[in-house]
Order: sequence, then structure tokens, then C-alpha cells
Amino acid sequence: MKFADLHLHTFFSDGTFTPEELVERAHAIGFAAIALTDHDTVEGCARAAAACARADIEFISGTELTAEHADTEVHILAYFVNTQNQALLTRIAGFQSVRQSRIREMVAALNKLGIPLKAESVFELANCKSPGRPHVARALVKEKLIGNLDEAFERYLKKGRPAWIPKTKMSALESVELIHQAGGLAVMAHPGLNRTDEVIPGLVDAGLDGIECFHTKHPRATAEHYLQIARQYGLLVTGGSDCHGLSKGRPLIGTVRLPFHYLEKLKTKVVQRKAAKPNG
Ligand code: AMP
Ligand code: FE
Ligand code: FE
Ligand code: ZN
Repeated sequence: MKFADLHLHTFFSDGTFTPEELVERAHAIGFAAIALTDHDTVEGCARAAAACARADIEFISGTELTAEHADTEVHILAYFVNTQNQALLTRIAGFQSVRQSRIREMVAALNKLGIPLKAESVFELANCKSPGRPHVARALVKEKLIGNLDEAFERYLKKGRPAWIPKTKMSALESVELIHQAGGLAVMAHPGLNRTDEVIPGLVDAGLDGIECFHTKHPRATAEHYLQIARQYGLLVTGGSDCHGLSKGRPLIGTVRLPFHYLEKLKTKVVQRKAAKPNG
């Protein structure tokens, strides 16, 4: 049976693998298709696509946008987007610069607590346009300013902790529109992580295409719950490991294997939309 992983990160955001390393892992496991969903960037897609072509794996370009709806943070996955789409590139470049300023603010907050971390150490370690809290956590561990990544989040970086800095986010409604105008499908990521079911009807009204039912952190009952919601609202079903590489030991790729028929349904919808809006 063919299967796919539609939620993966590389070092173009907060994963540790290069696109080539990620594809090598996917190939070893036997995935027939993968999607790259780095946070607020599509930069890794070209390299991942090339590596997938060599490995005979179907590649789906994507990204994971940090958005909000009704004061709730929601992550919106984009699939099949045109990675050259100017509106998409311009908008995500804005969020990349928000991410970079936020690193400086987090470091300043840590410095205030007497922790001598330098923003440059974080940028050097991150070495990407879309840095985030995991890079701050890794830099703290690397400089031996904290024991491990979880501790860094628990003590400093989690929401409400002293070095937590809110991030300016786009509205989820805008993110759906942005993805659609770039030719893609918009999917709500890991709804079970935030337990934010009350935002789903609003997102559906905005044109949400799908919901990530299968995810490493969704136990079976959670997956069943969202499969039921998908049926209720007529949403497409997706799934992925949300692998971030080796940042926390064993990589998660392989833990979620999405049966191929779900991906076929996504492809059908993209084709139908293109046919309805040929210049879109
Ligand atoms: P940011 O986008 O900068 O707010 O960072 C969010 C990212 O941090 C998520 O995508 C996860 O990859 C990561 N993250 C959140 N909580 C933890 C944690 N406790 N340990 C390690 N990584 C985490
Ligand atoms: Fe992440
Ligand atoms: Fe996420
Ligand atoms: Zn993710």
C-alpha cells in the first residue's frame, strides 16, 4: 500500500535535516509522496522537489503558516502552492522579518534575566530566514545555559514564561485566501494540539479545504474525533508526522503514514479548482 507524510520540516525553518537528508529518510521508509511544510517559508521546496525526483517520490510543495482566529493561534498548512507566487512570497517575507525581530526580543528578555545569550549565536545556529523559539532553545543548550530543550521551553519560552514574546500573526482568514490565490489548498494543522474546535466553523466559512486528522501527537481517539469533524463539514483529511529532524532524539518521520487515497482526494480538489479558475 502506498502512503504519504504531509507534514515535515527542514533546516529552512526549525527542523534539523537538509531537504536531501529528509528525502533520504522518506525513501528508506518507503513513502510514495511527501510534502514539505516549513514554517512561514517555501525556500526548501526546490531542493526537496529535486531530491524527490531522484528518489522517485512524489513531492508536494507547502508551508505552515502561523495564523490566528478569534484570539486563538492556529497553524494553517498550505499544499500545492505555486512557490513563485509573488503575493505569497511577499507576505511570508514580512513574517520572516517578524520572526527575526522576535529573536532579538527574546534574547533581550533572557539577558534581563541575567542569561548571557547573544542574538548572533541564535542567528548563526538557525542560519535561515524563518527562525523561531526552537532555535533560541537550541542556542541555550549549545552555550550550556540550560540543560535541555524542554527545560528551555518550560522555564523561558512557553507562553506566559518570561522570555515568551507574542508573534504578530496573520488572520487565519487571510492565510486561507493567500493560499488559494497561490493555487493551493488550506488545511488546519494538528487541531488536537491546541484543542481549538470552536474556530473550525469560522475557518470552514472562510474556505478551509481540509483538516489534519492524523498527527504524531493525535492519539487514535483524537484522530477519530477529527475524522468525524471532517465528515461533518465536508473537509479533506490529511496527516503527517510533523518531523523536526534530530532536535529531540529519534526523528518522527515514519510515525504517521497517510494512506494514499487521502492524497488523491487533495489532488482532485486542486485540479477541479484550477479548472474552475484557469487564471487563478
Ligand atoms: P515559534 O514558531 O517560534 O513560536 O515556535 C514554535 C515551534 O516551537 C513549534 O513549531 C515547535 O516546533 C516548537 N516547540 C513548541 N513547544 C516545544 C517544546 N516544548 N519543545 C521543543 N519544541 C517546541
Ligand atoms: Fe516547528
Ligand atoms: Fe505547527
Ligand atoms: Zn509543523
